[in-house]
Amino acid sequence: MRFHVLTLFPQMILDGLNTSITGRAIQNGILSVDAVNIRDFAENKYMKVDDYPYGGGAGLVMQPGPVCSAYKSVTERIGKKPRVVYMTPQGYPFTQQMAQEFAQEEDLCILCGHYEGIDERALEKIVTDNVSIGDYVLTGGELPAMVMIDCISRLVPGVLNNDVSAEFESFHDNLLEYPQYTRPVVFMDKAVPDVLLTGHHKNIETWRRQKSIERTLERRPDLLKDAVLDKKEKKYLEELIRQKEEKETKKL
Ligand code: SAH
Repeated sequence: MRFHVLTLFPQMILDGLNTSITGRAIQNGILSVDAVNIRDFAENKYMKVDDYPYGGGAGLVMQPGPVCSAYKSVTERIGKKPRVVYMTPQGYPFTQQMAQEFAQEEDLCILCGHYEGIDERALEKIVTDNVSIGDYVLTGGELPAMVMIDCISRLVPGVLNNDVSAEFESFHDNLLEYPQYTRPVVFMDKAVPDVLLTGHHKNIETWRRQKSIERTLERRPDLLKDAVLDKKEKKYLEELIRQKEEKETKKL
């Protein structure tokens, strides 16, 4: 998969993604990340790409020309018009499901704003998707772009060592992942749950699903309405909810 990032800080993107798992995938040619410097498309000899907002107000706004020219350089190079994601606090909140959808693309263009944002006309011309990484405001779209690229990348076949590890984890079936343990068997008087040492795969699977359900109920009950549960698991959840309600009424 190929990522094309339009940014004023290309080094930040390259430094951030050329390490660890994404770095290895880039080296192996499974991923490519090119960071296009919007400043290279400045339309004046001072290489200025921002200006004061019409109508007044604080801060500077990125001008439309350099942004559209940077985008054009990508479409000309790859010979097609990819989806263009603008990282913005005004976008749809990024989810695992969105990552799965984006991971199907061969090319993805990601636009990072800075300062107060980008002239609306450039956004109207080129952006296909508006995505936010959360309800808070950052100084630029570079960190959000890296968050999104990291998340999408681990869904691209071959990026993780075993594809199974991306399959059964948090948000799969709209559940959080079960707790994980590794050696030693006893750590500071705390033992690994017995069932995990039995080698009985079916019991382990049942235990893990139950822990996932418990944990999701405890930490992210909002996810449960769309969780994919079989009949037994639904019963298990109902029982947990019943117990929780009982505890709460006792407290009152
Ligand atoms: N004035 C804008 C915010 C500008 S923040 C507003 O109120 O909407 C500067 C840039 O940082 C934005 O253009 C965007 O690319 C990026 N950014 C900031 N917060 C973000 C978030 N939560 N998710 C994605 N991108 C964000």
